[in-house]
Amino acid sequence: MKDRRPDAVAVARLLRQRVEMGAGPLFLEGLSREEAIALAEAGGRPAPRPERPGTVPPSPTARPLPVLPESYERLRDAALACTRCRLSETRTQVVFSDGAVDARLVVVGEAPGANEDATGLPFVGAAGQFLDLLLASVDLSRRDTVYICNVLKCRPPGNRNPLPDEIEACAPWLEKQLELVSPRALLAVGTFAAQSLTGKQQPLGRLRGSVHAYRGLPVVVTYHPAALLRNAGWTRAFWDDLQLLREVLDGA
Ligand code: SF4
Repeated sequence: MKDRRPDAVAVARLLRQRVEMGAGPLFLEGLSREEAIALAEAGGRPAPRPERPGTVPPSPTARPLPVLPESYERLRDAALACTRCRLSETRTQVVFSDGAVDARLVVVGEAPGANEDATGLPFVGAAGQFLDLLLASVDLSRRDTVYICNVLKCRPPGNRNPLPDEIEACAPWLEKQLELVSPRALLAVGTFAAQSLTGKQQPLGRLRGSVHAYRGLPVVVTYHPAALLRNAGWTRAFWDDLQLLREVLDGA
């Protein structure tokens, strides 16, 4: 009798199991021989295709998120080890937050940059210092009244824009940390944070000037401090947004 190679045995076993389980059709068209063998050895789950130059590899977002801890410290520890999206492969470290855990205000930005990736803290460097200065003008400080975090906890390579599946994969961390910090209001800085928190895909200019809502929390939208450093003309608009925020915090 002719010897059958182990890879052919694996394919035969997969097909027999699928028939026994009443599984639907299996389409192998377009797969290379190696991919079909890998599919069989993985028990019918699609094997990852080799990455082509210039493409963004898929994120493992199908991996279910375990039940999130109810303790802030445990949530933070779990997030620091997160590998739910492709950014875990290129980050230096997870940037979870800075500031007071019992803050009245949470500032939410877009994603860590190079300085944040290196230090593990959000909003460091010139933009962070400028943000601190502007918040101090309305008696707010990350020492005692402000908590700061980002929509994404890991730096996108080259500071590229966050991708929709990365935002979706990271959203549970943000939701839970906001629930545990439980501030009186949120300040979304920059377009991505504004659109993520309001759920409205509108330009930042259209979202400013109104109070939005995120899971029952009031949200004020404004420019990212890095954008203010590039365009000093927007500082007055930022100041107006801070006055609106102040009114929200004061319960006006
Ligand atoms: S960006 Fe968010 S979801 Fe992706 S690896 Fe980092 S913590 Fe996890």
